[in-house]
Amino acid sequence: MLKGLMMESQLTTNAILRRAEMLFGHREIVTRLPDKSFHRYTYKDFVERAKKLAVALRDLGLRRGDRVATLAWNSYTHLEAYFGIPAAGGVLHTLNLRLPPEDLIYIMNHAKDRILLVDHTLLRLYEAIKDKVHLDHVVVMGAPGELPLGYLDYEALLSAADLDRYEELSLDEWEAAAMCYTSGTTGRPKGVLYNHRALVLHSLGVALPDAIGLSERDVVMPVVPMFHANAWGIPFAATMVGARQVFPGPYLDPVSLLEDIQEARVTVTAGVPTIWLGILQELDKNPGKWDLSSLRSMTVGGAAAPRGMIKGFEKRHGIRVVHGWGMTETTPVGTLCTVPPEMDGADEETLYDIKAAQGRPLVFIELRARNEEGIVPWDGKTMGELEIRGPWVAAAYYEAPEARDRWTEDGWFRTGDIVAIHPQGFMEIKDRDKDLVKSGGEWISSVELENHLMAHPAVAEAAVIAAQHPKWQERPLAAVVLKEGQTATEEELKQFLAQKFPKWWLPDAIVFVPEIPKTSTGKFHKLVLRQEYGEYLLARDREDESV
Ligand code: ADP
Repeated sequence: MLKGLMMESQLTTNAILRRAEMLFGHREIVTRLPDKSFHRYTYKDFVERAKKLAVALRDLGLRRGDRVATLAWNSYTHLEAYFGIPAAGGVLHTLNLRLPPEDLIYIMNHAKDRILLVDHTLLRLYEAIKDKVHLDHVVVMGAPGELPLGYLDYEALLSAADLDRYEELSLDEWEAAAMCYTSGTTGRPKGVLYNHRALVLHSLGVALPDAIGLSERDVVMPVVPMFHANAWGIPFAATMVGARQVFPGPYLDPVSLLEDIQEARVTVTAGVPTIWLGILQELDKNPGKWDLSSLRSMTVGGAAAPRGMIKGFEKRHGIRVVHGWGMTETTPVGTLCTVPPEMDGADEETLYDIKAAQGRPLVFIELRARNEEGIVPWDGKTMGELEIRGPWVAAAYYEAPEARDRWTEDGWFRTGDIVAIHPQGFMEIKDRDKDLVKSGGEWISSVELENHLMAHPAVAEAAVIAAQHPKWQERPLAAVVLKEGQTATEEELKQFLAQKFPKWWLPDAIVFVPEIPKTSTGKFHKLVLRQEYGEYLLARDREDESV
């Protein structure tokens, strides 16, 4: 081999930090604080404080590779942790604050977290579990006054840290920088350990114009939590390009978010569909009230974005929606749905069919799907389990050898998502393996049914599950939340679905519920629905027989 003659320059989060310091010192970072006021400072302040955090953590005894957990909302202090912990040679371990205490205990002990940085407003979450976890230090961010004994104050630590003592470590790009556990909707939580290289390449990938598309001219607000899947890598990518950053803090209700977008002139934002469904309802209820003229694009993912929602934003409010797919295991963005130029002239309905798909792989990401017969053709119809590989896809879970079977023999990650891939490479999620309705050997996509139900004018939210059936093993059952003041009958909704789907796809029952249970990451919690309605058809059948 003739080796190339290029410099060895490690792709680390420190390289992003150096660039931010060199070029973007004056740019602003805005955070909504718990008292609802806005905190503002510059990249210069941010870089200084991230470095001071690194100094303070080393003084607390942090060693290379030690895990430092965070329990925090999206805010400037969390951004400091995103960069300061890896700069100290530690591993940023974001904890999902919506997890039940048992999961938090399991995750913190499994990861062997040594230090915790916790928002003052979330301290009670830690206090509920503190006897069952083993930390050396607990540092409280945003404390309004004196702290009880045993806690360290974040601001006091930073004030005491001498910036002159900051020395950049020579980190290796393959070294671990961050860690996040899957939220366990599919079994015990499993740890994904990101290296610096993955975070940096992922930042480049999502920042490209045909991905999320981020520039120094943007004002970026990640609504997707920094405590789950790195807020889709946006804090790293936005810092890399030097965008103005806006953090919503703990306020994720539609009105607060709309105020943030309006006040800070946000151009790019990202979050899960449940957030945007709420915002769309508010916009429809009060047309003309909100000035969202700054907003250039809104990335939606983490769960299927309903076609009706994408169309509603674009047609009624002129807001472009970019649908994306990803997983904790993929750092997390794998695909994004931007429209190639050949499709510019396509008719509107075809365009929305495409926009509702999860999109094409980002640079360096490859995908394929497999069913019992092998790798499926890219025909847009044949369903198979999605397999993926690339530089920001996990190669193993952290200390979980029992999960080896999630990787194929040739090293691709088996996602557990059932998809069809279109000839042009657009991937469409049909279901999660465990949510697919397997009716007498045929497959029915719960996602397609619920998406179409949510396009009905009276429907606010809909989730479809596989309910047990005496003859067909499983049949679809829909749980529907109606919009305030609207009515619709089971029969009407079935007829609405029948316009699009074959008869055997129609749900055997539609139940009206006050709300759909949500997971810790804001997705429909189908496990809970299955517990409640999984045997609904069996029970109905028994009743019919006894009459
Ligand atoms: P978990 O939900 O298990 O905590 P993640 O947050 O990593 O784990 O979620 C990843 C999963 O979310 C994917 O495997 C997929 O099932 C689902 N998902 C993500 N984005 C989309 C999308 N745009 N459409 C449909 N499903 C999605």
